[in-house]
Amino acid sequence: MFFSRSFAVFAALTLLIGATAHAADRPNILYIMSDDHAAHAISAYQGRLAKVAPTPNLDRIAHEGALFSNAFCTNSICSPSRACVITGQYNHINGVFDLGGRIPPGKQMLPIQMRKAGYQTAIIGKWHLKNEPADFDHYCVLPGQGKYHDPEFRIRGPNPWGKNTIQFKGKHVTDAITDLSLDWIENEWDQTKPFFLMHHYKAPHDYFDNAPRYESYLADVDIPSPASLWEMNPEYGSLATRGDQDELVPHIGTSIGGRNPRRSYLRDLPTRYPEEFPTNFDPNDYSDDENKKFAYNAYLRKFLRCVKGIDDNIGRLFQYLETSGQLENTIIVYTADQGFMLGEHDYQDKRWMLEQSQRMPLMIRYPKSIKAGQRFDTLVENVDFAPTLLDFAGAAIPSTVQGRSFRSLLETGHESDDWKEATYYRYWMHMAHHDNPAHIGLRTKTHKLIFYYGCNYDGGYRTPPGWELYDLINDPAETVNIYDDPENKDLVADLKAQLADLRQKIGDDGTHYPACEKILKEFWEYDEPARSNAIQISHDFLDRRLGELDRGDRSPKTYVGTDHQ
Ligand code: CA
Repeated sequence: MFFSRSFAVFAALTLLIGATAHAADRPNILYIMSDDHAAHAISAYQGRLAKVAPTPNLDRIAHEGALFSNAFCTNSICSPSRACVITGQYNHINGVFDLGGRIPPGKQMLPIQMRKAGYQTAIIGKWHLKNEPADFDHYCVLPGQGKYHDPEFRIRGPNPWGKNTIQFKGKHVTDAITDLSLDWIENEWDQTKPFFLMHHYKAPHDYFDNAPRYESYLADVDIPSPASLWEMNPEYGSLATRGDQDELVPHIGTSIGGRNPRRSYLRDLPTRYPEEFPTNFDPNDYSDDENKKFAYNAYLRKFLRCVKGIDDNIGRLFQYLETSGQLENTIIVYTADQGFMLGEHDYQDKRWMLEQSQRMPLMIRYPKSIKAGQRFDTLVENVDFAPTLLDFAGAAIPSTVQGRSFRSLLETGHESDDWKEATYYRYWMHMAHHDNPAHIGLRTKTHKLIFYYGCNYDGGYRTPPGWELYDLINDPAETVNIYDDPENKDLVADLKAQLADLRQKIGDDGTHYPACEKILKEFWEYDEPARSNAIQISHDFLDRRLGELDRGDRSPKTYVGTDHQ
């Protein structure tokens, strides 16, 4: 009797010591995610803004770790991308098709698995998945988008979810989020466990509002612009994005200049940021190109001032981890929920499957097992992030997760032979907010196939269907649609077959919205009758849009947000 009791105590103690020792061996994970911070606005990515607006602190993560040049979201919009990261699933499986989606407690897979593995979990900053982030040990999150100045945060408390708040008077949200994270690590982290902290900035989401200290940053600088801002290559796009005889060019995609009469930065920004425009600015006094230049500079300066605020705050995080002795035992990840069009094709915002919007920045630093200075062109998707982090944490990856860990790539530098050869994409919010038609597509390392099927969930508010194919090696700016070149017939057939297979494999099999799927199928082959039909749809849509504009309806209801839970 005595022997067996002692043995039980001994066994329990051994287990406890074993668990503690194991926990101490494991790294902390600091997952930093900004909102709409395009990779080409980080100087480590060596884009056109690298010299004008360098980001030395962000670059440090890449220089001392790994940078991914082909990391992609599967749906370039806030809540859906965040849902992919939290669940490791594509949107048609996790139910967050659009901004109406939510991930309820009990389904917040990533913190649940981290906690089970002995991590102390927290989320601080932007959450944007509606329900209480209750599966984290600690949360302090913005309501919805949150505010840039005097931000308010939701915390746990005696009142129902959403009713317990704290406010930071006189603070910019980027500074406040950093303050909160540093305070949590300093005062609330239980050092017997490793931490998993999701540190999510609101910036640089539009409408951009920087901290006052950055007001003069770039004030006198002409920001370098992409060639496609000024001129649409005649070979760019399709019936879907230009309409028949270019009749829809003004109505697809919001513009920087005055191209889109419904929504453009030339309409929006002079009243929001009058200091960025000439005194008593009147667009009628200037040429189209001059106006576009004013709007573009205003846009980029405000955006980059928000980015500067992030970069400086990343410096604060580095400094704290260094002085507290935690830097070497912390995996630092930097990403954004998607990219952003910074004037390419005269577009703003995200949503597009175009490179600047589909690509996520992704840089990971952990010198203990990730060699410094690596650059990977391996195709990774946001659904792969959670399994990778869980793998580093020694946590279990549930079978419901569709993504796959790329830990071995980071640690060995070699892409597995059986790694994915294409990423999947689907944007569902047809023509909502920024006039982007719904689309589906596939991206390999060399090509991108996009199918704008042009309808909402119920098959309504139709725009002309069209296919686009871009050669990413010879035309990285995606300016020449080669779908109809006879020499690409076999390539198109092969990529379409891959896309159809991928849809089946990941469960986007058309059963979610049958009326939408019917249209998608009808235009899949895109034969001559289908093209004639698409031309008619182009004319019909133009009539509809001109009617809306005549009536002064500048926010047509093109879709109803889905909310399945
Ligand atoms: Ca976003």
